[in-house]
Amino acid sequence: MLQNLWLLIIAALLWAAPASGWGFDAHRQINRYAVYTLPAPLYYYLKPHLRWIEAHAPDPDSRRYAVAEEGARHFIDIEYYGCVDSIPQREEDAIKQYTADSLKSWGHVPWHVQRLYYSLIHAFKSRDHTRILRLLAETGHYLADAHVPLHTTANYNGQFSGQRGIHALLETRSPVLMVRERDFLLGAATYVSDIRQLIWEAVKESHRALDTVFYAEEQAKKRIPESAWYSLEMRKGKLEKQYSEALTLEFNRILGDLVRRRMRQATLAVGKFWFSAWVDAGQPPLDLPEPVQEPQENPLPVPEMGNATLPSRIEPVD
Ligand SMILES: [Zn+2]
Repeated sequence: MLQNLWLLIIAALLWAAPASGWGFDAHRQINRYAVYTLPAPLYYYLKPHLRWIEAHAPDPDSRRYAVAEEGARHFIDIEYYGCVDSIPQREEDAIKQYTADSLKSWGHVPWHVQRLYYSLIHAFKSRDHTRILRLLAETGHYLADAHVPLHTTANYNGQFSGQRGIHALLETRSPVLMVRERDFLLGAATYVSDIRQLIWEAVKESHRALDTVFYAEEQAKKRIPESAWYSLEMRKGKLEKQYSEALTLEFNRILGDLVRRRMRQATLAVGKFWFSAWVDAGQPPLDLPEPVQEPQENPLPVPEMGNATLPSRIEPVD
């Protein structure tokens, strides 16, 4: 009895704050396998830097507590904007309709990714190796976040529906138990002429999946006894409170293969995004001078909000 009480106390202390976006491991997997979808010569250019692009996939989440404006770049609370299909997809139009301050507090992941797309084109054009790598790692992160259903709602952690903790269940615990290496056998990334559409399709599909996600959590908790919802597990040498394997498996049984499917879609979308940026930059040669310097930890300069257009300093692609 006393032992159980201690376990509960330890569990309460260990219960981590909800992860932001896919868990760190899932973000790393998405970036890594996105590189594998790339056609040559982009693939051969990035292959030596694969570990770096993978390792730095979670950087934007690591910055969230240090940079005030970082948080809103990872999500969009659709409810505040209205119906997902009627939100202006161009950032200037959205700012006109809702104001820039609203975007900053309601989340603006689709427009942020769009702005970084132009930064990536510019980095390719100027053959700035350091910025290319940095932007690849970071755009992979934000675009993957747009594929997470809970990143499109103000009820991101079930706090308004009595489902607190659903964030970690879906985005951290489920990928660990449900997604395998073989799930990342994807086709080759193709060129997408309308990146805005690619981004918004991800957001819309995420949002459409929300009801299913909340329903699956509710049902799984009805079917599994409350005493078996959580377990204590060793992770990287530390004891952590986790959703139990039984609850996670039941949740995913009801969900179908949603987690696996969204991770696959995110990975292929990231590959398409990177490849399209290189094509839109005019397919510059990638025989960059060696030895190449990998980027340092300094923060990535982020383009101003409202600047989601092709910078004028970039000449049109021939
Ligand atoms: Zn994130």
